[in-house]
Amino acid sequence: MLTIGCHLSVSKGYAAMGKTACSIGANTFAFFTRNPRGGTVRALNEDDVAALRTLLDEHGFGQLVAHAPYTYNLCSAKEDARAFAIASMREDLERMAALPGQLYNFHPGSHVGQGADRGAALIAEGLCQVLQAGAPTRVLLETMAGKGTEMGRSFEELAHIIELVERARPELEGALGVCMDTCHVSDAGYDIIHDLDGVLAHFDEVVGLERLCAVHLNDSKNPCGAHKDRHACIGEGYLGSEALGGGEDVLYRIVTHPALKDLPFILETPNELDGYAREIAYLRKLAETADGAPSGTPSSQSAVQERRLCMCNRLLSQ
Ligand SMILES: [Zn+2]
Repeated sequence: MLTIGCHLSVSKGYAAMGKTACSIGANTFAFFTRNPRGGTVRALNEDDVAALRTLLDEHGFGQLVAHAPYTYNLCSAKEDARAFAIASMREDLERMAALPGQLYNFHPGSHVGQGADRGAALIAEGLCQVLQAGAPTRVLLETMAGKGTEMGRSFEELAHIIELVERARPELEGALGVCMDTCHVSDAGYDIIHDLDGVLAHFDEVVGLERLCAVHLNDSKNPCGAHKDRHACIGEGYLGSEALGGGEDVLYRIVTHPALKDLPFILETPNELDGYAREIAYLRKLAETADGAPSGTPSSQSAVQERRLCMCNRLLSQ
């Protein structure tokens, strides 16, 4: 069964997120570890976290993917900004220890003109201060679209950061992984529309598929290589829309690919809960066609459903 969910608000607490996830057919979810724009954190309510742990067990959830706020920049040119990111990530991971075995992903950062080499060195330096050997939460670098001076625009950049960390602190081997964002990798120039196999083989060569721990499943408002990072609803962007050169078969290959199908898929599409519920149901159905359907071709029935879904989303957005 597909492990799939979406980004949820933590404002009503941890157990509430679990209940919301169940109500939309999700068996994983993502959440910000704190207000994405600010730095203040509420004290962790242990009863609330324990209630979520029970719910995750009872409903057979896969791994959750907590998200660091976008404001962290481990490779900022300003020392205080780097120190803030390091201190906040350490604090986030301390809190995550109450939910052992989950994932925590972050945007590597922007080198703001210092150059990619300096950026990678600063990120690795910061991670060496953040990570602890044997910690219960795996930390994931996210693949980025490469807008501005964003780090993580190529698999090579991610591999380089991981290598620097492990060279400096060999005991951290395995502490870092990667979260692949489908909108970002496409925007970064990796052609997952026509050659998902080739892109994943390249990832395996450079980073190693054993490092790939989660997928942010987003459609893209821009074509491959645009370096933009604007997420579209599933089936409405360059990946999933036939009119834009993609199609349902692209989505089908993503959710059924042997290297991806058992990972947690997190939707970060521009939706409210009802839209997420529809995308989850649609993608589950699509993944299920893997049994019995000729490989690579979704059933025509689900093609119809996709068009229906597009229509629903369009109606909702009016
Ligand atoms: Zn993402």
